[in-house]
Amino acid sequence: MKVYVIGIGLIGGSMVLDIKEKHPTATIFGIDNNEKHLQEAIDLGVIDEAGSFEDLQKADFVIVSVPVDVALTVLPKVLDAVGDKTIVFEVGSTKKPICDIVANHPKRRNFIATHPIAGTEFSGPSAAIKGLFNGKTNIICEVEKTAFKLQEKALQLFSEIGMRIRYMDPVSHDKHIAYVSHLSHISSFMLGKTVMIKEKDEQDIFDMAGSGFESTVRLAKSSPAMWTPIFKQNKEYVLETLEGYIANLTQFRDLLADDNYNAIFEEMESVNKIREILNGITIKK
Ligand code: NAP
Repeated sequence: MKVYVIGIGLIGGSMVLDIKEKHPTATIFGIDNNEKHLQEAIDLGVIDEAGSFEDLQKADFVIVSVPVDVALTVLPKVLDAVGDKTIVFEVGSTKKPICDIVANHPKRRNFIATHPIAGTEFSGPSAAIKGLFNGKTNIICEVEKTAFKLQEKALQLFSEIGMRIRYMDPVSHDKHIAYVSHLSHISSFMLGKTVMIKEKDEQDIFDMAGSGFESTVRLAKSSPAMWTPIFKQNKEYVLETLEGYIANLTQFRDLLADDNYNAIFEEMESVNKIREILNGITIKK
């Protein structure tokens, strides 16, 4: 089995670590525009060797795990290069622009659009970890556009690494993911900014910030190179989420300014329901 991973960072790297565990005889080839990452991935045992686009003809699986703006140019070139039996999947956090770019490609049936809902705030090959996808959801879009036999091949692999599948159309994916993922990242980045501007003394932040601050600001460590194109591609829905969020923040500020503590209490009490929702997520995991 020959597996090619294009963009050997957190997601692509973690995926091939799990694949190698399930298929020890598979050869994992890496393609990355960053020579340092390529060498690092070999040294860390994430990939077996460097590959090239010319070899993709012989690939069984190709995983495209680059930032979503890069995917728009890389993915059609990958499809140009692969053989009839190759299944290509892309793992980006937006789905409509990706599905659109390959919509009329002659090898569209060799492609499956996915978004594994798993990750950390770290990037690059050193961030790759085993078991990242176990028990997590993989959202698949436009599955009917992938050749049936190749769908089966991909689904078998996802199941082997412990993922459960949820099917969705690309627009619904982008709209919903803006709320549950993209807004959380903006909120975390801007919380970090607000604190850093006011608390110029780093030692004060360090001494006074508790685990609550650390967990809410965790996503602010994420890579700007990955997130800027996501916000660009999903601008319409991200703006919609921001408008709702800003309205809620403004309302909270006004209640406080008006000493309306009953309303503040009720507001927080109603949002406490998130406990049950999050428990549901933990149980499903
Ligand atoms: P990452 O750790 O930064 O890995 C991406 C890799 O792609 C980096 O090594 C990067 O090198 C390389 N790359 C950039 N341009 C390239 C090109 N033209 N050709 C080949 N390689 C190139 O990012 P990631 O977190 O794995 O994210 C990859 C994809 O997964 C993104 O589309 C993201 O939306 C999606 N995703 C991420 C998460 C998450 O939590 N992180 C979760 C689900 C899905 P440089 O560092 O030199 O640019």
